[in-house]
Formats: sequence, structure tokens, C-alpha cells
Amino acid sequence: MAEKKIILTGDRPTGRLHLGHYVGSLKRRVEMQNSGEYDQINILIADDQALTDNADNPGKIRDNIIQVVLDYLAVGIDPARTTICVQSALPALHALTFYYLNMVTTARLSRNPTVKAEIQMRGFEDEGLPAGFFTYPVSQAADITAFNATVVPVGEDQLPMIEQTREIVEKFNRIYGETLVMPKAVIPENAVQRRLPGVDGSAKMSKSLGNGIYLSDTAATVKKLVNGKMFTDPQHLRIEDPGHLEGNVVFTYLDAFSRPEHFAEFLPQYTCLDEMKEHYKRGGLGDGTCKKFLISVLNEMMDPIRTERARWEADLDTVYDILREGTARARAITDETLARVRHAMRIDYFEDRSILDEWKKLL
Ligand code: ATP
Ligand code: MG
Repeated sequence: MAEKKIILTGDRPTGRLHLGHYVGSLKRRVEMQNSGEYDQINILIADDQALTDNADNPGKIRDNIIQVVLDYLAVGIDPARTTICVQSALPALHALTFYYLNMVTTARLSRNPTVKAEIQMRGFEDEGLPAGFFTYPVSQAADITAFNATVVPVGEDQLPMIEQTREIVEKFNRIYGETLVMPKAVIPENAVQRRLPGVDGSAKMSKSLGNGIYLSDTAATVKKLVNGKMFTDPQHLRIEDPGHLEGNVVFTYLDAFSRPEHFAEFLPQYTCLDEMKEHYKRGGLGDGTCKKFLISVLNEMMDPIRTERARWEADLDTVYDILREGTARARAITDETLARVRHAMRIDYFEDRSILDEWKKLL
């Protein structure tokens, strides 16, 4: 029998979803869902993981669960084809995390480059590092394996997590016999989509850094953020000056979001982005024009997302049912994996009576 193709992805409910999520992950999730190539697609709202660095603010996490679900539905995640579920309501994930913690060393966890960067960003070096945050890659391994995921579509920052998961799967299967499914990360081919920078030019648009454009932002907010906050070329003082593309966020975003059709519609003096870039580099193209074009491109993409979100916002009872039913489906899947793991470890004493027979032989 051919191996099933199962997807697990997720997001931390630490804020509404932003353009980085869209290009890094959401857009592809919808394409994968609509391709019909996958046997099962699961999206996990990782509220337990979000609590590892927000334990003092559980209200923020609770509030953002609904925001994240609305963002999913708004971009085209279809609850009939994709299971949307809440991590904290899946107790098997906690049990699996507990067993997998024995499959890693603290030295290995300390070397995880994403966790290292996040520890620094959150100031945990000075404040003290919550043990739960330090070990969150292990809980992510539990999430991925509990769903028997073969494919995990993520942004680039998540690659070390998938690597860690693969090591745990390898070690678990070596010790306890072939039990867990080996997952594979899938990242976008395009470098900009793998890690969209923040509007301020920082390396990654991130909810925690407050440097994002959110999918649910109004057209007026998008305009304000692009005009007021977006980093361009600091040496491009006069329109006639030659401009630089390196580190110029407006052009990075155009790389990620513009399509040739946008030129005919909003900036007909060029036929494609390369022509526009050449003009900017030569001098004579102002940042104001570039920003105005980007605002049009972004709003054209975001308009249908806003409309769809508004439709779901008016029907939160249905959204609640979608989440409840998705979580119930996920519970059945993850409970089954936990039973398989406990059986492989032979700690399912009260399910497997052959253990009693073995105990009898001891005496
Ligand atoms: P937080 O700051 O709370 O960690 P976040 O903005 O990093 O939030 P996550 O929920 O941690 O968002 O990430 C969800 C998914 O989106 C992951 O697959 C991650 O790789 C991807 N992602 C997040 N930010 C970006 C980005 N700027 N560019 C590309 N992909 C991203
Ligand atoms: Mg993150």
C-alpha cells in the first residue's frame, strides 16, 4: 500500500496572521488543499506552544484563537477538506511530548538555531528561560508525529524544528521498533517567501516584533504602514539619484506579491518588475510611486480576503462549530497514535494482557 500523504501545519495564536504567514505558508496550504493530492490535511492552532512564552497572558492566546481561525477561513481554508483543531484540547500531544523529552538531550536543544534566536529576541537570557519554551521543539515533534504527517509546509525559520522531529522519530523507531512516520519539511522555492522581512526592514515579519501587515488590516492601514513605516533605500534622497534594491523592503514585497498583470492595471509605464527595477537603479523613479504601486498590489490581493473574513465574522457560531468538530476529529487521530506509541513502548499495561503473562513468568 502506498504511503498516505498527510499534512500537518499550524500557527501560534499570538496574533492575527500577517503577510509573512500568507507567502510563507497559508497560500501553499490552500493550493495543497485544492490540489486534491493529499489524503488528509490538518491545521493545528498551537495555543499550548504559544503559552510557553506567554504564560502570564493567557487571555491574549485565547482571543487570538478565533482571529487565527477567521484568517484561515478568509484565505480559503475549507473546513470540509481541512481539519482545523486546537492543540490544548488534544491530551495525546502532552503525553507524547513527555515521552519524546527522553529522546533528546539538553545539549541538542541548546543548539537549535531558531530557539536560540527566539530566546534572544524575547530577552529570556536576562529574565530567565521558561523550561517549556526551551523544550517547545519537542512538543512540535509530538504535534507532527501524532498526526502521522508526511509533509510539513513551513517557513524557513521552522526547518530546525523539522530536523529535530526527524531525529526524534529516528531514535524512537530505533529503540521501540518502527512506529512513527518520518516527516518532511516543504518550504517555498522563492527566498522572499521563505522569510518575508518586516516592514521596518528587520529579518522576519513576526507577530511578536510588531512589524507586520496583517491580512485583516484595512486598506487605509495598509496605506499608512507602507507610506509611513516601510523601509526603502536611505541613500535615495532625490528622485534622480540611483536607487538600491538590496534591503529595500518595497522591492522585496514587490518580488513576493506583484505579478505582470498588476503593471497593466496600476503602473502601465512598465511591463514587468525587472523594467521597474532597472529604472529605479538608474535613477528617476521615486519611492512614492513605488509605494503607491505596492499599496495597490497588496490591496488587490487582500480585498477578497477581507470580504470573506467579514462574512465569517458575522457567523461566529458556525466558526465555533468548525473548530469544535475539527478538534474532535483530531482527537481521534492523535489518541490512536498515542495508543500505538504506548504499545510500542510496552507501557500499555491495561490494554495488553500479555504483559501480565510475562510478569507471571518472572515469578
Ligand atoms: P511568533 O512571533 O509568535 O512566533 P510568527 O509570526 O513567527 O509568530 P508563527 O505562528 O510562529 O508566526 O509561524 C507560523 C508559520 O508561518 C510557520 O510556518 C512560519 O515559518 C511561517 N512564518 C512566520 N513568519 C514568516 C515570515 N515572515 N515569512 C515566511 N514565513 C513565515
Ligand atoms: Mg514564530
